[in-house]
Amino acid sequence: MVLAIILSALAMTLIVGVRYLIVSGVFDLATRAKHRGLYAGLTPQIRKEIGWSLASSAIYGVPAGVVAWGWQDHGWTRIYTDLGDWPLWYLPLSVLLYLFAHDSWFYWTHRWMHRPRWFRIAHAVHHASRPPTAWAAMSFHPVEALTGAVVIPVLVFLIPIHVGALGFVLAVMTVMGVTNHMGWEMFPRFMWGGVLGGWLITASHHQRHHDEYKCNYGLYFRFWDRLCGTDKGIGSFERRSRTGRRAAAAGRRTDP
Ligand SMILES: [Zn+2]
Ligand SMILES: [Zn+2]
Repeated sequence: MVLAIILSALAMTLIVGVRYLIVSGVFDLATRAKHRGLYAGLTPQIRKEIGWSLASSAIYGVPAGVVAWGWQDHGWTRIYTDLGDWPLWYLPLSVLLYLFAHDSWFYWTHRWMHRPRWFRIAHAVHHASRPPTAWAAMSFHPVEALTGAVVIPVLVFLIPIHVGALGFVLAVMTVMGVTNHMGWEMFPRFMWGGVLGGWLITASHHQRHHDEYKCNYGLYFRFWDRLCGTDKGIGSFERRSRTGRRAAAAGRRTDP
């Protein structure tokens, strides 16, 4: 049994790590093709981002592996495989519930990690990427990685979800994590401007968090930021790359 749990944890770590390398690698190539020079001079920083991200892969992989083992061997969790178990209308609703629950957890833990003491301990690593790149998606200190790693493994015990819908949630999580940090906007304007954009978070919104720290804390939705008055709207990539480069070149730290 112990061996089965260890193997499951190792397999999940490998899956999370390889998924990160592939997705970040693809968007790194896209960035270099579309925006030549955007990552110029950032190779030492990218190396650090990859190092922290691979460590985070293990922190994400272990709880996910234990839960996956319990699901397979003991029927733990409320993950279902038969589409008929819940009405079809519940499928998109379950995805929204997962994204909203994850977003809420992220918003409040993220705000907490911007308190000076916890920033130094847990969150400075993530903000050491100035400007962040496609490799910064999982560039977290282990304490921060732990706060992120428990979310899905806990939610699968609380909210029923079809295994395919869960795969979709994980895909959204991975792609948004990478693209929100890559330094340019790949989504069409309606997703970050206009009515829908007023509620969704893409790179245009998250880059402003990396510029200004004390705003735009959300993950997928602008709901909590707007409700709590921390939403400063979308930012500008030109400004970001200039200030980021200057800060990186000067080696100084912007206060959280
Ligand atoms: Zn970030
Ligand atoms: Zn932050």
